[in-house]
Amino acid sequence: MADFVVPPSNYEVKMKDGTRYLPSKSGTIHVENRRHADEIRNSKAKNRLDMIKEKTQMSSMDTGPDNTCGKCLFAAHAFQTDCPRCGNDLPRKVKG
Ligand SMILES: [Zn+2]
Repeated sequence: MADFVVPPSNYEVKMKDGTRYLPSKSGTIHVENRRHADEIRNSKAKNRLDMIKEKTQMSSMDTGPDNTCGKCLFAAHAFQTDCPRCGNDLPRKVKG
């Protein structure tokens, strides 16, 4: 239900109930549990997980030339980090 971008220094995100989320290679975690998503959002305010940014708060669905695959010229969505056609890194890919 929500995706969060985790800084490279966080190798996992641990919830109060012990659930752990391991970031993907692109540094994001996908949280289906609403309580966990809320916990991350609320924790941000308390600076416990303040480096974690929710993906939906980043730039929206504007597709444009700035997220076009440099390899095959596929016009990817703004939220995509890897080219769905050839797998090449897209310009907006989160580094680290
Ligand atoms: Zn491509």
